[in-house]
Amino acid sequence: MASPPTEPAFLDLDLQECQARFVALGGKAFHAKIARERVFAAGELDFESMTALPAGLRGRLSEQLPILTGTELGRTEASDGTTKLLIGFRGGDAVETVHIPSLKRDRGATLCVSSQAGCPVGCPFCASGKLGLSRNLTRGEIIEQYLRGRAIGELSRSVVMGVGEPLLNVENLVSALETVRTEMKLGARRITVSTVGFPDRLRRLASSKPHFQLAISLHTPDDEQRDRLVPAMAGTSVEEVLLAGDDWFEQTGREITYEYVLLGGENDSLGHAERLADRLRGRRAGVNLIPYNPIDEEPDGRPRPDHVEDFKQVLLDRGIVATVRWSRGMQSDAACGQLRLHAQS
Ligand code: SAH
Ligand code: SF4
Repeated sequence: MASPPTEPAFLDLDLQECQARFVALGGKAFHAKIARERVFAAGELDFESMTALPAGLRGRLSEQLPILTGTELGRTEASDGTTKLLIGFRGGDAVETVHIPSLKRDRGATLCVSSQAGCPVGCPFCASGKLGLSRNLTRGEIIEQYLRGRAIGELSRSVVMGVGEPLLNVENLVSALETVRTEMKLGARRITVSTVGFPDRLRRLASSKPHFQLAISLHTPDDEQRDRLVPAMAGTSVEEVLLAGDDWFEQTGREITYEYVLLGGENDSLGHAERLADRLRGRRAGVNLIPYNPIDEEPDGRPRPDHVEDFKQVLLDRGIVATVRWSRGMQSDAACGQLRLHAQS
């Protein structure tokens, strides 16, 4: 596993740390507030243009406290309006971030952000984990994705569903989202964290307030199959995951969405749907069915649309709220599970 960069950049600092750094560079604490406001509210990404700061300070900041540490290595625009950014970070890892405009253009866009460079969980149907984990993203690298995404177009929502397992980098994630929430003004209700649901880490996430929306990737009602589909959680039963979800609801009052990637011939039988409904009966939760988006390593397995509808109907007939998410961004390999870690040489 690679280690994260040690030299903190502007976006790695919270307000207090930022104030201390500005003072150390010969500025005043209130200059830090001005700079943060320019960056997070106005989207200015260059200290030199912040004329409210003294010229000498601007120069020292530009030299010693970079705002963005990444480089845009690639940009792919699909005909459905989604834009996939490939961002290279210090140390040679690159992750993907996807900007998905609402179908109603005036409603802003959803940004899909990455939480780790690579992923150690190893779900066989997902491209993100094929190279394992390289390293956790820093607080600043998570925030930087939001700044770059907002530069493409206004954000109305965000999902932490890019590369990585958010709860394995929960401290950096929570502190990054704190800035996104309070300084970039994207409210916690508009941010969804998607996780495989490690129970102890879910409790950690529940303890941070205000609460984000939560999606748990369940994928099957059967223990033995989940051990295979979510290898890093082998040994944790489906019931244990659901109980952790119940605790989340009790503590936060936020209903959970259980995500279920439908893999043709694997977990998409109507029997699976019935057993899933049994598991969820009486629980305050809905199901989001995600038809498998093929990855190079596994080209087959996309379920037939009518079969997806039948699966959904079994859930609906049993009183479980269920929706289907046909991913956008597929022409640019930007759909859920198709994002990868790119290691630069
Ligand atoms: N690690 C987290 C978040 C990133 S993955 C998690 O697993 O929840 C985001 C979502 O994409 C998850 O629900 C995941 O199961 C789904 N996904 C992964 N690979 C996919 C694929 N090839 N097709 C469709 N969905 C996929
Ligand atoms: Fe990691 Fe999520 Fe992909 Fe599984 S689905 S390998 S947890 S990113």
